[in-house]
Amino acid sequence: MMGHVSIVGAGPGDPGLLTRRAVVRLRQADLVLYDALVDVRVLRIARRAQRFFVGKRAGRHALSQVEIHAMMVRAARKGRQVVRLKGGDPFVFGRGGEEAQALQIAGVPFDVIPGVTSAFGIPALAGIPVTHRGLASAVLVASGHDEQVFADTIAALRPNGVTLVVLMGYGRRMSIASHLIGQGWARDTPAAIVADGSLPQQQIWRGTLEGIAGGRAAIETDGPALLVIGQVAALTLSASEPVQRQKTASGA
Ligand code: SAH
Repeated sequence: MMGHVSIVGAGPGDPGLLTRRAVVRLRQADLVLYDALVDVRVLRIARRAQRFFVGKRAGRHALSQVEIHAMMVRAARKGRQVVRLKGGDPFVFGRGGEEAQALQIAGVPFDVIPGVTSAFGIPALAGIPVTHRGLASAVLVASGHDEQVFADTIAALRPNGVTLVVLMGYGRRMSIASHLIGQGWARDTPAAIVADGSLPQQQIWRGTLEGIAGGRAAIETDGPALLVIGQVAALTLSASEPVQRQKTASGA
Protein backbone atom coordinates (compact mmCIF):
# COMPACT_ATOMS: atom_id res chain seq x y z
CA MET A 1 0.00 0.00 0.00
CA MET A 2 1.19 3.49 -0.83
CA GLY A 3 2.23 5.68 2.09
CA HIS A 4 2.09 9.44 2.36
CA VAL A 5 4.41 12.41 2.86
CA SER A 6 3.50 15.54 4.83
CA ILE A 7 5.73 18.54 4.27
CA VAL A 8 5.34 20.18 7.65
CA GLY A 9 6.36 23.62 8.88
CA ALA A 10 7.82 23.34 12.39
CA GLY A 11 7.60 27.08 13.12
CA PRO A 12 10.54 29.15 14.29
CA GLY A 13 11.56 27.02 17.26
CA ASP A 14 9.23 27.23 20.26
CA PRO A 15 6.93 24.15 20.10
CA GLY A 16 4.06 26.36 21.24
CA LEU A 17 4.08 27.87 17.77
CA LEU A 18 3.35 24.59 15.99
CA THR A 19 0.00 24.27 14.29
CA ARG A 20 -2.44 21.65 15.56
CA ARG A 21 -2.26 19.87 12.23
CA ALA A 22 1.52 19.68 12.46
CA VAL A 23 1.16 17.99 15.84
CA VAL A 24 -1.34 15.48 14.41
CA ARG A 25 0.98 14.62 11.51
CA LEU A 26 3.96 14.22 13.85
CA ARG A 27 2.04 11.86 16.12
CA GLN A 28 0.99 9.72 13.15
CA ALA A 29 4.42 9.63 11.54
CA ASP A 30 6.60 6.55 11.41
CA LEU A 31 9.47 8.39 9.72
CA VAL A 32 10.52 12.00 10.26
CA LEU A 33 13.14 13.63 8.05
CA TYR A 34 14.15 16.87 9.71
CA ASP A 35 16.32 19.91 9.07
CA ALA A 36 18.88 21.73 11.18
CA LEU A 37 16.65 24.40 12.72
CA VAL A 38 14.06 22.01 14.13
CA ASP A 39 13.82 22.06 17.95
CA VAL A 40 14.26 18.74 19.82
CA ARG A 41 11.03 19.36 21.71
CA VAL A 42 9.19 19.39 18.40
CA LEU A 43 10.89 16.17 17.31
CA ARG A 44 9.85 14.42 20.51
CA ILE A 45 6.19 14.82 19.55
CA ALA A 46 6.84 12.19 16.88
CA ARG A 47 7.17 9.50 19.52
CA ARG A 48 6.43 6.50 17.28
CA ALA A 49 8.72 7.66 14.51
CA GLN A 50 12.20 6.92 13.37
CA ARG A 51 13.87 10.35 13.19
CA PHE A 52 16.47 11.14 10.61
CA PHE A 53 18.54 14.32 10.29
CA VAL A 54 18.87 15.31 6.63
CA GLY A 55 19.74 18.97 7.01
CA LYS A 56 22.65 21.26 6.65
CA ARG A 57 25.08 22.03 9.44
CA ALA A 58 27.92 24.54 9.26
CA GLY A 59 27.63 24.62 5.49
CA ARG A 60 27.83 20.84 5.14
CA HIS A 61 24.89 18.92 3.78
CA ALA A 62 24.00 15.70 5.55
CA LEU A 63 22.16 14.61 2.41
CA SER A 64 21.86 16.22 -1.00
CA GLN A 65 18.50 17.54 -2.15
CA VAL A 66 18.21 14.70 -4.67
CA GLU A 67 18.94 12.14 -1.96
CA ILE A 68 16.24 13.65 0.25
CA HIS A 69 13.73 13.40 -2.61
CA ALA A 70 14.69 9.78 -3.24
CA MET A 71 14.41 8.90 0.42
CA MET A 72 10.90 10.37 0.73
CA VAL A 73 9.69 8.60 -2.40
CA ARG A 74 11.19 5.27 -1.37
CA ALA A 75 9.69 5.42 2.14
CA ALA A 76 6.23 6.39 0.85
CA ARG A 77 6.30 3.55 -1.69
CA LYS A 78 7.00 1.17 1.20
CA GLY A 79 3.77 2.39 2.78
CA ARG A 80 5.33 4.62 5.41
CA GLN A 81 3.78 7.77 6.89
CA VAL A 82 6.56 10.29 6.35
CA VAL A 83 6.85 13.77 7.82
CA ARG A 84 9.29 16.07 6.11
CA LEU A 85 9.85 18.59 8.88
CA LYS A 86 11.25 22.02 8.06
CA GLY A 87 11.88 25.14 10.13
CA GLY A 88 9.36 27.96 9.92
CA ASP A 89 7.10 27.66 6.90
CA PRO A 90 8.13 24.92 4.46
CA PHE A 91 7.58 27.11 1.41
CA VAL A 92 9.62 30.11 2.61
CA PHE A 93 13.26 29.54 1.62
CA GLY A 94 13.06 25.94 2.71
CA ARG A 95 13.23 24.19 -0.67
CA GLY A 96 9.87 22.71 0.29
CA GLY A 97 8.55 23.64 -3.14
CA GLU A 98 11.18 21.51 -4.83
CA GLU A 99 10.35 18.59 -2.57
CA ALA A 100 6.62 18.91 -3.33
CA GLN A 101 7.47 18.94 -7.04
CA ALA A 102 9.54 15.79 -6.71
CA LEU A 103 6.70 14.01 -4.90
CA GLN A 104 4.20 15.18 -7.50
CA ILE A 105 6.38 13.88 -10.33
CA ALA A 106 6.85 10.55 -8.55
CA GLY A 107 3.11 10.22 -8.00
CA VAL A 108 3.45 10.09 -4.23
CA PRO A 109 0.46 11.41 -2.24
CA PHE A 110 1.49 14.38 -0.11
CA ASP A 111 0.20 17.42 1.68
CA VAL A 112 1.74 20.67 2.92
CA ILE A 113 1.21 21.95 6.46
CA PRO A 114 2.10 25.64 6.67
CA GLY A 115 4.10 26.89 9.63
CA VAL A 116 4.73 30.22 11.32
CA THR A 117 7.54 31.67 9.27
CA SER A 118 10.41 33.21 11.18
CA ALA A 119 10.21 36.16 8.78
CA PHE A 120 7.00 37.40 10.43
CA GLY A 121 6.79 35.46 13.69
CA ILE A 122 10.21 36.39 15.03
CA PRO A 123 9.84 40.16 14.52
CA ALA A 124 6.40 39.88 16.17
CA LEU A 125 7.89 38.16 19.22
CA ALA A 126 10.48 40.94 19.36
CA GLY A 127 7.71 43.53 19.41
CA ILE A 128 8.09 44.59 15.79
CA PRO A 129 5.02 44.60 13.54
CA VAL A 130 6.35 44.16 10.00
CA THR A 131 3.64 46.47 8.69
CA HIS A 132 2.26 49.40 10.64
CA ARG A 133 -0.08 52.13 9.51
CA GLY A 134 1.93 55.25 8.68
CA LEU A 135 5.29 53.48 8.94
CA ALA A 136 5.27 50.60 6.47
CA SER A 137 2.58 49.44 4.10
CA ALA A 138 4.61 46.60 2.60
CA VAL A 139 7.20 44.08 3.68
CA LEU A 140 9.81 42.26 1.63
CA VAL A 141 11.35 38.99 2.78
CA ALA A 142 14.71 38.55 1.12
CA SER A 143 17.57 36.10 1.31
CA GLY A 144 20.86 37.69 2.27
CA HIS A 145 22.87 34.62 1.42
CA ASP A 146 24.08 35.62 -2.04
CA GLU A 147 25.48 39.09 -2.67
CA GLN A 148 24.30 39.38 -6.28
CA VAL A 149 20.86 37.90 -5.68
CA PHE A 150 20.33 40.27 -2.77
CA ALA A 151 21.48 43.26 -4.84
CA ASP A 152 19.09 42.34 -7.67
CA THR A 153 16.22 41.84 -5.24
CA ILE A 154 16.44 45.30 -3.71
CA ALA A 155 17.59 47.18 -6.81
CA ALA A 156 14.05 48.03 -7.90
CA LEU A 157 12.92 49.18 -4.45
CA ARG A 158 12.42 52.79 -3.50
CA PRO A 159 14.89 53.32 -0.63
CA ASN A 160 13.11 53.13 2.74
CA GLY A 161 9.88 52.24 0.92
CA VAL A 162 9.18 48.93 2.65
CA THR A 163 10.10 46.91 5.70
CA LEU A 164 12.93 44.60 4.75
CA VAL A 165 13.28 41.26 6.54
CA VAL A 166 16.53 39.53 5.62
CA LEU A 167 16.88 35.80 6.27
CA MET A 168 20.19 33.97 5.93
CA GLY A 169 21.96 37.32 6.10
CA TYR A 170 23.45 37.58 9.57
CA GLY A 171 26.97 36.64 8.50
CA ARG A 172 26.86 39.21 5.69
CA ARG A 173 25.07 41.88 7.73
CA MET A 174 27.77 44.54 7.36
CA SER A 175 27.92 44.36 3.58
CA ILE A 176 24.12 44.12 3.36
CA ALA A 177 23.72 47.30 5.43
CA SER A 178 26.46 49.12 3.49
CA HIS A 179 24.86 48.09 0.24
CA LEU A 180 21.49 49.50 1.30
CA ILE A 181 23.09 52.80 2.36
CA GLY A 182 24.80 52.88 -1.04
CA GLN A 183 21.39 52.42 -2.67
CA GLY A 184 20.08 55.52 -0.89
CA TRP A 185 18.60 54.06 2.28
CA ALA A 186 18.95 56.54 5.17
CA ARG A 187 21.84 55.81 7.52
CA ASP A 188 19.62 56.29 10.54
CA THR A 189 17.00 53.81 9.32
CA PRO A 190 16.00 51.77 12.37
CA ALA A 191 17.21 48.19 12.25
CA ALA A 192 16.97 45.18 14.53
CA ILE A 193 18.62 41.81 14.65
CA VAL A 194 16.97 38.89 16.37
CA ALA A 195 18.91 35.71 17.04
CA ASP A 196 17.46 32.41 18.26
CA GLY A 197 14.00 33.95 18.09
CA SER A 198 11.25 32.31 20.18
CA LEU A 199 13.81 30.27 22.12
CA PRO A 200 14.93 30.85 25.74
CA GLN A 201 18.29 32.16 24.49
CA GLN A 202 16.67 34.75 22.18
CA GLN A 203 18.73 37.92 21.75
CA ILE A 204 17.64 41.22 20.25
CA TRP A 205 19.88 44.03 19.06
CA ARG A 206 18.38 47.36 18.06
CA GLY A 207 20.06 50.24 16.31
CA THR A 208 20.38 51.69 12.85
CA LEU A 209 21.48 50.62 9.43
CA GLU A 210 24.69 52.57 9.99
CA GLY A 211 25.26 50.69 13.24
CA ILE A 212 25.11 47.37 11.42
CA ALA A 213 27.30 48.64 8.58
CA GLY A 214 29.86 49.84 11.11
CA GLY A 215 30.08 46.44 12.77
CA ARG A 216 28.39 47.53 15.99
CA ALA A 217 25.82 44.74 15.85
CA ALA A 218 27.53 41.55 16.89
CA ILE A 219 25.49 38.91 18.63
CA GLU A 220 27.27 35.81 19.83
CA THR A 221 25.27 32.84 18.68
CA ASP A 222 25.56 29.70 16.60
CA GLY A 223 21.83 29.85 16.04
CA PRO A 224 19.72 31.44 13.34
CA ALA A 225 19.34 35.21 13.13
CA LEU A 226 17.43 37.65 10.97
CA LEU A 227 17.57 41.35 10.17
CA VAL A 228 14.59 43.72 10.24
CA ILE A 229 15.22 47.04 8.52
CA GLY A 230 12.77 49.94 8.34
CA GLN A 231 10.86 52.41 10.51
CA VAL A 232 8.98 49.60 12.25
CA ALA A 233 12.22 48.27 13.71
CA ALA A 234 12.15 51.14 16.21
CA LEU A 235 8.94 49.80 17.75
CA THR A 236 9.18 47.71 20.92
CA LEU A 237 5.71 46.32 21.33
CA SER A 238 6.55 43.38 23.55
CA ALA A 239 6.68 43.11 27.28
CA SER A 240 9.60 40.97 28.17
CA GLU A 241 12.96 41.20 26.40
CA PRO A 242 15.64 43.57 27.58
CA VAL A 243 16.58 45.91 24.77
CA GLN A 244 20.14 46.90 24.02
CA ARG A 245 20.85 49.72 21.60
CA GLN A 246 23.89 50.21 19.42
CA LYS A 247 26.15 47.81 21.24
CA THR A 248 26.77 44.10 21.20
CA ALA A 249 24.04 42.04 22.76
CA SER A 250 26.61 40.04 24.67
CA GLY A 251 27.83 43.24 26.25
CA ALA A 252 31.33 42.56 24.93
N1 SAH B 1 11.55 28.25 6.19
C1 SAH B 1 12.13 29.08 7.24
C2 SAH B 1 13.30 29.88 6.74
C3 SAH B 1 14.47 29.05 6.27
S1 SAH B 1 15.87 30.04 5.90
C4 SAH B 1 11.06 29.98 7.81
O1 SAH B 1 9.97 30.12 7.24
O2 SAH B 1 11.29 30.55 8.87
C5 SAH B 1 16.73 30.04 7.45
C6 SAH B 1 16.80 31.45 8.01
O3 SAH B 1 15.61 31.77 8.71
C7 SAH B 1 17.90 31.68 9.00
O4 SAH B 1 19.12 31.96 8.35
C8 SAH B 1 17.40 32.88 9.77
O5 SAH B 1 17.63 34.07 9.04
C9 SAH B 1 15.90 32.64 9.77
N2 SAH B 1 15.43 32.00 11.03
C10 SAH B 1 14.88 30.79 11.15
N3 SAH B 1 14.55 30.53 12.43
C11 SAH B 1 14.90 31.63 13.14
C12 SAH B 1 14.83 31.99 14.52
N4 SAH B 1 14.32 31.16 15.44
N5 SAH B 1 15.31 33.21 14.90
C13 SAH B 1 15.83 34.05 13.99
N6 SAH B 1 15.91 33.78 12.67
C14 SAH B 1 15.45 32.58 12.25
